[in-house]
Amino acid sequence: MVYVGIGSNLGDRYDNIAKAVKYIKANGKITVSRVSPLIETDPVGGPLQGKYINGVIELTTELSADELLNVLAEIEDRLGRKRSVKNAPRTIDLDILLFDAQRINTKNLKVPHPLMCEREFVMSPLRQLCPDIDAFIKKIR
Ligand code: AMP
Repeated sequence: MVYVGIGSNLGDRYDNIAKAVKYIKANGKITVSRVSPLIETDPVGGPLQGKYINGVIELTTELSADELLNVLAEIEDRLGRKRSVKNAPRTIDLDILLFDAQRINTKNLKVPHPLMCEREFVMSPLRQLCPDIDAFIKKIR
């Protein structure tokens, strides 16, 4: 099972998230099994900016983690994401949180996502999908 964090704090936030989920579902090599409830959260770090809508997508895929990262980056681009300063506001942010039990530490990809456990806006929707996820992360880290 693969978990992808999703966030938006620019434009029509719910619509951005709905579109991102739709584009992910449209990929023939990805099957989305569940989407967590969405929550509104305060921004963490970065310049002064509006609140986020956050959620987590559960999926299975025949893509490698690198290939999935490319697909997610294309969707971010398609939804008009501009890359400026770190933690800047964004129309959409898609992060690979967990990729089965894989541990990945390359220049482009770190999985489990290094900051996920400190981020309530990630862990809260993730726990709603998987109440036992903390024990799983501890085991694979
Ligand atoms: P951001 O979208 O600002 O969270 O950061 C995107 C950058 O983080 C991309 O260039 C990725 O190569 C890198 N990155 C490292 N680990 C991950 C991950 N687990 N999920 C998504 N992006 C990652």
